[in-house]
Amino acid sequence: MPAFRFHSTRSLVQPMRATLATLQESRIREVANAGMGRGDVLPFWFGESDEPTPQVIRDAAVASLQRGETFYSHNLGLPDLREQVAAYASRLHGAVGMDRIAITSGGVNALMLAMQALLDAGDEVVAVTPVWPNLTAQPVVLGARLRCVPLSPQPDGAWALDMAALLAAITPATRLLVLNAPNNPTGWTLSAQEQCTILAHCRATGTWILADEVYERLYYEPTPNACAPSFLDIAQPDDRLVVVQSFSKSFLMTGWRLGWLVMPPALTPHMGKLVEFNTSCVSVFTQRAGLAALAHEADITPRVVAHMRACRDTLVPLLQALPGVSVAPAKGGMYAFFRLEGQPDSLALAKRLVAEAGLGLAPGVAFADEAEGWLRWCFASQDTGRLAEGVGRLKKWLGL
Ligand code: PMP
Repeated sequence: MPAFRFHSTRSLVQPMRATLATLQESRIREVANAGMGRGDVLPFWFGESDEPTPQVIRDAAVASLQRGETFYSHNLGLPDLREQVAAYASRLHGAVGMDRIAITSGGVNALMLAMQALLDAGDEVVAVTPVWPNLTAQPVVLGARLRCVPLSPQPDGAWALDMAALLAAITPATRLLVLNAPNNPTGWTLSAQEQCTILAHCRATGTWILADEVYERLYYEPTPNACAPSFLDIAQPDDRLVVVQSFSKSFLMTGWRLGWLVMPPALTPHMGKLVEFNTSCVSVFTQRAGLAALAHEADITPRVVAHMRACRDTLVPLLQALPGVSVAPAKGGMYAFFRLEGQPDSLALAKRLVAEAGLGLAPGVAFADEAEGWLRWCFASQDTGRLAEGVGRLKKWLGL
């Protein structure tokens, strides 16, 4: 008698994990899917510029393919790229060794790898919200328990952290703190002082910090290093800190899927194992593009940031001029996050704006319950006239 027997083909089909069945679909995608491909919709729903990747980066990828670099590479990335990423991080934040770097398939893969490395099912994760939904969905996928600490909206439309509430939420039972600053969608950022307070607390509770700093260069406050405050500025290499980075935002490379992790050196070889079991490696031509991006960083990123600032400074005053709109200029990132008085259902509103105004925005509720009633507008537009046109459509829809 076999230990088990299949009685019918039906019994072969096991139900999928309940976690997956109940997983919330991204509501940014829900709105975008309803309007994608419609030529009459101005899309501002995703976090990406409509400007293609700089030519010098594309050329490097083409040359790599022409050379026939079509094979697997090291799990942790090309040594040259890891070295250049370490040099770049060191320029911004003080010495970071290449033994702390893993090259990943974008920031989102970096986030998932970090969570796979740090979380067992049932572990407690504290996340500061509102935040890009992937950061709160990934711990759920892994079976962790998520506790959210909400930022609070201020009368001027900016969002603020209640530090006491955050520290109270992080206890020795907290395995991981997930933070994204500069923040998508609110534009909120952490000060260096706040980072010191959080790091000291997490050292005391034994909690890992997963800092998503993919918007560090898209920072509009005056700084000596043209970069937002980073946990790397203050932490020791062996602190329980993993920083997530991406080429997507500062180098206009969203479609390439290229990012990296900075972690304690002792974790790096183990991360290599996880890369193997997830994606094995990043394609070599993509990594060559990353090398070109870093080689030309001084020409590319300051221009990208200056343009993003011009976009922000075009869009925000236009929105502020509309009656019933609360919005503050983001300190960092690429989003205007705003509330429209009398519109409590952001998903329904975003869908109506697509259908009736030809305006594609992301609903606040995609980022957290407390962001219900808000909308996110990605202002990364090559032509700032498109932003004005979008506001014109909103105005018309509002009957103004
Ligand atoms: N983190 C945050 C906060 C983001 O907004 C994004 C992109 N929207 C990412 C990570 C991931 O970016 P990518 O995978 O393109 O590197």
